[in-house]
Amino acid sequence: MRSIPLPGPGDEPAERREPTITRGQPPEAPPAIRTLLKELGLRPHKGFGQNFLINEHILTRIIEAGDVGPDDVVLEIGPGLGHLTHHLAARAARVVAIEIDRGLVQALRKTFQRTPSVEIVEQDALKVEPASLVGDHPYKVIANLPYYITSAALRHFLEAERRPVLLVVMVQREVAYRILAPPGDLNLLAISVRVYGKPRLIARVPASAFYPRPKVDSIVLRIDVLDHPAIDVPPDKFFKVGSAGFAMPRKQIHNALAQRIWMPAGSAQEVLRAAGIDPSRRAQTLSIPEWNTLTREMEQRGLV
Ligand code: SAM
Repeated sequence: MRSIPLPGPGDEPAERREPTITRGQPPEAPPAIRTLLKELGLRPHKGFGQNFLINEHILTRIIEAGDVGPDDVVLEIGPGLGHLTHHLAARAARVVAIEIDRGLVQALRKTFQRTPSVEIVEQDALKVEPASLVGDHPYKVIANLPYYITSAALRHFLEAERRPVLLVVMVQREVAYRILAPPGDLNLLAISVRVYGKPRLIARVPASAFYPRPKVDSIVLRIDVLDHPAIDVPPDKFFKVGSAGFAMPRKQIHNALAQRIWMPAGSAQEVLRAAGIDPSRRAQTLSIPEWNTLTREMEQRGLV
């Protein structure tokens, strides 16, 4: 097995220096994947972010990171050719796998026709209401996410009426680093994740672990969902204020707010001061409690 060098200690901040995963992938897709796609008459669909995970060790690592056991109901987003689904089905009580690509759905239904614990749902995962699939049962989201929906998928499930107990997701490396950024450097996605959960890095995964090979490396993240969100204002108002603040991240926060949310002249500075925030700061320097206080102040003034 070929070993792929990963960035060494010191290349990244301490909170990112987490376990690395065993590498060792042939540069080409293993014949099995190519044969399977050929047999099915399918080609990887770039538009659906189809990069199939072909490293068994990483598949196992994802299952272990999710502590998947016999009581678990798992929602898998984008089962693809069903490799991760097989691993999940071997451990979980039930797997509901949501796939958007009709060709893959047909193939998956054949593959899992004798596995009653696996249900293949043909849907856009972003349009699925989790409770309609899992009912009242607690559930976990486990997925090698298509990159183009990473942020939307995380927000969709974290902000759902019935949130998962945890998520284990493969995401692009840069996106993972944004989510894991230290306080003082949080973007809107990092805030959205941390309002609802506690993210941690499980493993770094090289591009060679996928077929076709993407242009970027990936990271497996585990997000433990909090019992209660880390805010006590209505989430829609919180994210309205956050979105306004981050719409112009280079501007001072008072300018960004005043441009995006209607308010009388001078109000932005005033409300920021009332929230204990220097109006000349930039959005990324605010903590979640500060956004929370700011939202409360704006709500009290009828601005959101
Ligand atoms: N789970 C497989 C694996 O690990 O090899 C495939 C992962 S591949 C990165 C992403 C999968 O998500 C593809 O099968 C793709 O068709 C599917 N997909 C893309 N957009 C989707 C959406 N909006 N809802 C559900 N599935 C989607």
